[in-house]
Amino acid sequence: MTPYRMLIDGQLVEGARTIPVIDPSTGESFADAHVADETQLDEAVAAAARAFPGWASTSWQKRRECLLRFALRLDEEADYFARLLVREQGKPLSEARFEVDATVRGIRFYADIELKVEIRDHPTGPYEVERQPLGVVAGITPWNFPMILASNKYAPALIAGNTVVLKPAPTTPLTTLELGRLAADVFPRGVLNIVADDNDLGARLTGHPDVAKVSFTGSTITGKAVMRSAVEDMKRVTLELGGNDPAIVLQDADIEAAARGLAATVFLNAGQVCAAPKRLYIAEEVYEEFQERFVAATREIRLGAGDEEGVTLGPVQNRMQFDKVRALIEEAAKSGTVLTGGHVANRPGFFVEPTIVADLSDEARLVTDEQFGPVVPLLRFTDERDAIARANQGSFGLGASIWTRDLKRARLLARGISAGSVWINQHTAIHPDIPFGGVKQSGLGSEGGMEGVHEYTRLQVVNAAA
Ligand code: NAD
Repeated sequence: MTPYRMLIDGQLVEGARTIPVIDPSTGESFADAHVADETQLDEAVAAAARAFPGWASTSWQKRRECLLRFALRLDEEADYFARLLVREQGKPLSEARFEVDATVRGIRFYADIELKVEIRDHPTGPYEVERQPLGVVAGITPWNFPMILASNKYAPALIAGNTVVLKPAPTTPLTTLELGRLAADVFPRGVLNIVADDNDLGARLTGHPDVAKVSFTGSTITGKAVMRSAVEDMKRVTLELGGNDPAIVLQDADIEAAARGLAATVFLNAGQVCAAPKRLYIAEEVYEEFQERFVAATREIRLGAGDEEGVTLGPVQNRMQFDKVRALIEEAAKSGTVLTGGHVANRPGFFVEPTIVADLSDEARLVTDEQFGPVVPLLRFTDERDAIARANQGSFGLGASIWTRDLKRARLLARGISAGSVWINQHTAIHPDIPFGGVKQSGLGSEGGMEGVHEYTRLQVVNAAA
């Protein structure tokens, strides 16, 4: 049976053509993915539109049953999906296993959410508030966490009664396409459709008149294009975009815990995490100690292919990103001090050493831009308010963290940070049952929790005369 086909109207179909998928640990193609042409994309949207009335009127219990069956199938094939994820995405096997496991947990969390009609009292008489599904949802994902990020879209959309057309990033299409194999006879035909592309169908999908809602995760620049394309039909949009998260280590922090906690999150998924710490602001009084411990923790990281034993840092996912990260490191090395790393590995594939750069100005590109790679700047501060002001610079506002033993003070400081999530003594603490989203140009709306399901609904009020 041909693998990596698309799911359109309940059928696993070959694409108009195929594209090669590159293993980032070798730089070589290892599989071909079927990709849609415009006609197939339109067929997927039409199938989702046809399936919508039936699925929307299906009981919550039945929808839940389908999602739970789907989660079980994924769980049964967890090892297969984790290994395929390593091949196409590059991450270490332990991280891939975590991603698959978190995906299964996420689907199960959403499956249990029932949207009930609420009856509210009013002086003129009681009235009803109902959350109704929107219609066809287009889900578009990037290449850093193809499995989790897709489930944050199709699972809440489906449990709320919408139908879905899901499109992965062209460099990591395989695990998403394989979901189609699991879904084909779990959901009624047309309820979940999965199409891949060669980075050429996103605009057609988001601009399609029969799509009611676009849920997009990716870069801010593409997010703006998505927003523009939604204007004509006033489509609802959820945008989970880029970030340049600051982490602020205060003088009274547990420095060893901060150094270890930050090394673990800065280099997670080779730094390709929307809400990873990407700029570290350290109190002057503890700077030297932090630097020493952070460099030591970073030197324990083992760079290699994701399926090699003991590897904790895989390659960057694709050549474009590899070139971008390499250029950023070269530029930073000219004005700053490279404390560890600083090079790409001398082997095929897209390997970048875990790199720390100190002594950069706030205007350096490594500080102002989203690096999305295994390199991070260390910055000093002497005044807490100044640290917060510097943390708030720039157009992003996804996550931030404060490291301190004084939780009360941290909670107060958190209120002054422009970020959708502020973590204390941790970073990137993202869970399916906790809402997560960006402010400023990091996004619109949120995923996770009950709020993540509400994004796929519209309110209807029914109010009878007393
Ligand atoms: P990207 O914006 O280039 O691509 C994302 C997806 O959009 C891909 O599937 C792509 O094919 C599609 N696309 C391309 N052009 C389109 C268009 N005109 N209309 C609609 N879709 C289009 O992003 P990327 O490089 O794949 O991902 C990296 C970015 O994603 C980073 O900036 C990262 O911070 C961000 N990200 C954000 C979150 C979050 O939750 N906030 C999570 C992960 C990644």
